Amino acid sequence: MRKPKLIDLNDAIQHPGRHVVYDISSGLEEEEDLDLLEPVEGTLDAVSTGNLLLVTGDLTAKVVMECSRCLTPVHLSVPINISEEFSVEGTPSGYGNREHAEVKEEAEPFPLFDGNQLRYEDLIRQAIWLNLPLRPLCRESCPGLEDGDREGEHGRPEFEALSKLLGDEEESGR
Ligand SMILES: [Zn+2]
Repeated sequence: MRKPKLIDLNDAIQHPGRHVVYDISSGLEEEEDLDLLEPVEGTLDAVSTGNLLLVTGDLTAKVVMECSRCLTPVHLSVPINISEEFSVEGTPSGYGNREHAEVKEEAEPFPLFDGNQLRYEDLIRQAIWLNLPLRPLCRESCPGLEDGDREGEHGRPEFEALSKLLGDEEESGR
């Protein structure tokens, strides 16, 4: 198993009020069900109130999906907006004592934190799935598959390809 990619949010967690911004560019190699055209890019911003860590994200995913009517591939640019809160326990070390604040996730089935390190690709993946259109269309007026269903008119595609092939041979024979 590959090691998860992590970003260390201690700078934000130990200094409440301090916004820490991370530039993200990720191909999400672990995500097999998503057809990305290019790496997901944007920023993640983390800030702590002392007992809550707020992570917001403004990213864009360029993906290929199938048109829900005619099944042709559609290129989509999907804005990914993230806004998540995580509980923080302990006293931030930025307050000048020897203590240390840490993110506490409530028995999450898929924890996003490893200590104060965020598995940011998992966070982005979850957000992408929430933001993808359920029924993408190649265009608003896409008529769907009706045209292709009229088999009698065009014949089966494999026979069409064969007759084209034969036609080409006849032509070159002349
Ligand atoms: Zn379509």
